[in-house]
Amino acid sequence: MKVSRLLLPTLREVPSEAEISSHRLMLRAGLMRKAATGVYSYLPLGVKVLKNVENIIREGMDSHGAQELLMPAILPKEVLEQSGRWDVFGPEMFRLKDRGGRDFFLGPTHEEMFTITVRDEVRSYKNLPMTLYQIQTKYRDERRPRFGVMRSREFIMKDAYSFDLTEEGLDKSYKNMYDAYCEIFKKMDMDFTVVDADSGAMGGSGSQEFMVKSDVGEDTIAYCEACGYAANVEKMAGVPTECDCPEGDLEAEKIYTPNVKTIDDLTNLFGCKPSLFVKTLIYRADDKIVAVMVRGDREVNETKLQNYLGCLELEMAEPAAVTEVTGAAVGFAGPIGIKCDVLMDIEIEKMKNFIVGANETDYHYKNVCVGRDFTPTAVLDLRIVTDGDSCPKCGGSIKTAQGIEVGHIFKLGTKYSKAFSCTCLDETGTDRTVIMGCYGIGVNRCIAAIIEQHSDENGIIWPVSVAPYKVIVVPVNTENEVQKELADKIYETFKSKGIEVLIDDRNERPGVKFKDADLIGIPIRITVGKKAGEGIVEYKLRSESASADMTENDAVQAALDLISSKI
Ligand SMILES: [Zn+2]
Repeated sequence: MKVSRLLLPTLREVPSEAEISSHRLMLRAGLMRKAATGVYSYLPLGVKVLKNVENIIREGMDSHGAQELLMPAILPKEVLEQSGRWDVFGPEMFRLKDRGGRDFFLGPTHEEMFTITVRDEVRSYKNLPMTLYQIQTKYRDERRPRFGVMRSREFIMKDAYSFDLTEEGLDKSYKNMYDAYCEIFKKMDMDFTVVDADSGAMGGSGSQEFMVKSDVGEDTIAYCEACGYAANVEKMAGVPTECDCPEGDLEAEKIYTPNVKTIDDLTNLFGCKPSLFVKTLIYRADDKIVAVMVRGDREVNETKLQNYLGCLELEMAEPAAVTEVTGAAVGFAGPIGIKCDVLMDIEIEKMKNFIVGANETDYHYKNVCVGRDFTPTAVLDLRIVTDGDSCPKCGGSIKTAQGIEVGHIFKLGTKYSKAFSCTCLDETGTDRTVIMGCYGIGVNRCIAAIIEQHSDENGIIWPVSVAPYKVIVVPVNTENEVQKELADKIYETFKSKGIEVLIDDRNERPGVKFKDADLIGIPIRITVGKKAGEGIVEYKLRSESASADMTENDAVQAALDLISSKI
C-alpha cells in the first residue's frame, strides 16, 4: 500500500478525552475514531490490526478443535426468559422493540443461544465433547464507558462454550482451552499472568483470568513471588493477621465521641492505630439489610460478600435504613444490639478489647470482645487482601498489581443446560444434562493491552504478528530516481511474497515520514537514501534504537526471516 493513498489521519495533538496511552495512541495513529461515548469506528489501519488479532484467536481455537459459528447480535426476549436473565441484566442491556411491539435485545453475552443450539442440534454422546465459538459484536450499556476500547459499549468478543457429559470431560475441555489461550496470547507477544478468579455464588474451583499487568488495568491481581500463586483480589482468601490489641479481660465501656465521622477522626480521638477499631458497614442486599464487620484498616470484599449472600444487588444501605437498624445517625454502627444479621470477617476472631460504634449517635464502645459482648450471625472471609498480607498457599508475602483482563475461562457447570433442558444420551441410552464451560477473549481489549505493553513516547511498537503492515519502505527523497527505483523494487519484492508492506511515497521531509512510521508502529523500516546507488539501505526495527546499513538483499532477507519467525 502506498502511504499517499492510505486513509491514515494521524494526529499531532493528544486528544484530551483520552486518559491512557493505548486510547491516546489508537486515536493519534489513526486506528479509530469515536462515534459516541464507548462506541468507535475502526479506520483501515485499525481494521487490519483487529483482523490480525481475530485471526490469531481463530487459529488458536481451530487448532484446538473448536468450531466457529456466528450467532445474531439482535435476539428476542424469549431467549433470556428461560434463564431469568431478562430481569438480571437490568439497565446494562440495550433493549428494543420491533414494529410489532415485540421485545428484543442486543446480546451482551450468548450463553443461552449456544445452549439452545446444542439442545436442538446435538442428541448423542457420540458428538461430544464439542467446543463451539464465535467472534462477534456484543453490547453493554456500561454506566462508565472509558479508556477507549478498554471499557466500551460496543465491543468484539470471542466467546466459546464447551459441552461434555462428565466432570472429567469438562476438566479436559477446560485444560484444552487453557492451552489454546496461552498459545494465543503468546503469539500476540503479551506478557500475561493467569490468575484464579471468582466463580460467583455457585462456587466451584474452575475459573481463571488471563491478565496483562498494567497500571491502567481495572482489576487488581494479588500474587505471591515465593510460590507463584496469583488470584484476582476479588478471589484471594484473606489470611487473618495477629493483632496487637490490649491484653487482659477489660470491661466494655461506652465513650462519648462527638463529631467523629471517619476512622481518622477516631484514631485521633482514641490515640491508637486504625487496626484497633472494627468498622461496621451497613449494606442493602436486595431487600435485606446486613451489617458487615472488618478491621478498621481493611476494606470489605464485596464479591465475597455477594457470593455468600447470593443476592443480585448489593449496595451501601441508605441513611434511613442505617438508622432503622442502629437507632443512630450514620457513622455509629456497631454489632452490639444492632437489629440485623451481623457478618464478621474471620480476622476479628484474633482481636480483643477493640473499638466499635455503639448504635447511639455520638458514642462508641471500647474494650469490646467477640462472644462476650456480641455474637455474630456468621464468621467468614470478607476482606480485600492487600500488599504484605500472607499468601494463603505458602505464607509468603503478597504483592498486588493492576491488571487488564484479556481472557477468562470458566467451568460453568449445568446452570444453563438445566434451565434449557440441554441433554444428550449417554452410552447406556440415558438422557443426561450437558456440562458446560465458557471461555471469553475481549478482542478490542487485546489491542489496547498490546499497546499498553508495546509503546513508547514516539508511538506504538506493534508485535510483528498483529502489526497492520509488517514493513515500511521509506525513500528519503522521492524525487531522486535512483532512490525511488530501489524503494519500489524492495516494495514489490515484499508484495510478491504476500507480505503486508507500506511505501511512504509522499513528498515529505524524511523526519515527517520517520515520525509517522514510529507513531503507527510498523515493526520493520527499510530506508532508501544516499547509498541507494551502491545498493545499500538502512534496516531498522521499531523496537530497537540502532539501525544498520545492509545490502538491499540482506535487508529483505532479514525482514522475511523475522516475519516468518513470528507468524
Ligand atoms: Zn505463596
